[in-house]
Amino acid sequence: MTIVHIVESLELESLPPGGVTRFRLDMVRDGMGEAIRLPVIVVRGGRPGPTVGLTAAIHGNELNGVRAVQELVATLEPEAVRGTVVAVPVVNVPGYLANRREFNDNVDLNRIMPGAPRGTMSQVYAHRFMERVVRRLDVLIDLHTASFGRVNSLYVRADMRNPMTAHMAYLQAPEIIVHNESADGTLRGAAATAGVQAITVELGDPQRFQPHRIRSSVAGSLEVLRKLGVVEGKPPEDGQAPLLCGRSYWVYTDRGGLLEVLPSVGERITAGQRIAVVTDMFGDVIREYEAPEDGVVVGKSTNPVNQAGSRILHLGVEGLPSGFPDPSVAPPHWPR
Ligand SMILES: [Zn+2]
Repeated sequence: MTIVHIVESLELESLPPGGVTRFRLDMVRDGMGEAIRLPVIVVRGGRPGPTVGLTAAIHGNELNGVRAVQELVATLEPEAVRGTVVAVPVVNVPGYLANRREFNDNVDLNRIMPGAPRGTMSQVYAHRFMERVVRRLDVLIDLHTASFGRVNSLYVRADMRNPMTAHMAYLQAPEIIVHNESADGTLRGAAATAGVQAITVELGDPQRFQPHRIRSSVAGSLEVLRKLGVVEGKPPEDGQAPLLCGRSYWVYTDRGGLLEVLPSVGERITAGQRIAVVTDMFGDVIREYEAPEDGVVVGKSTNPVNQAGSRILHLGVEGLPSGFPDPSVAPPHWPR
């Protein structure tokens, strides 16, 4: 049986080079006085290099990333690895156990990063996660899915003005990349403030495993590792280049009733195209919605129960502003 080490901090430098170590990392004590522990897999390479983090399920019901992290780590040959890979299959342990997005004080952990040492339950947990894991990284790939009642394409959110994160996003080879300055409170934003180059990968739908999404995300993250020099291997065959969106936003309903969203995720739509129909409880159409401008469907609602103000679809507007770096080109300061 493989030994799992129960620890209060990750001392990466003291781990044997060329090995895989499994941890349960103490985070907080619960109301029974029992430890809530994070599963962590650390692959310390045989040669020095960058420290790369892979995190999943900071939203407790976003599970594709859990399997993606496990599958990626399983492909690594520790002796050949350059640097260190720190994989956290589940960040939000209480949320995961409750099949819920939020932490167990009903707060979204991805809105309160970097937390606070003497704050609320979620703030303390967030703070310790930052201190015990994130601050040890050079690079972070944070894996998510859509929320309940919605579906996503495979897309990446990244600050595309930053040549590092822009190139990481590109290497993931998603269907769509959305430029998004890392907002306050997100793990990506807090990591960036701490000097960690971070991107967010959205893979599919919540509370399930989708093998094709998992496979694509593993391949994309491996390509980031390869370009960082962490692993060796051949570059992938040229696939479809991702659609680059300089901005994106959600389109909302203003009338309640049964919502049907017409286009598929990943589909390009044009201004004025019918995108959604709302019917009343007798089946009569009471509202139709049109695309406000040309774009691509990054994600969409699948839940027909629509109170006025519900989300219809996440519209990405193609094209990066001029002056942004070319994401297909590795920047000079790439940490190899
Ligand atoms: Zn999420």
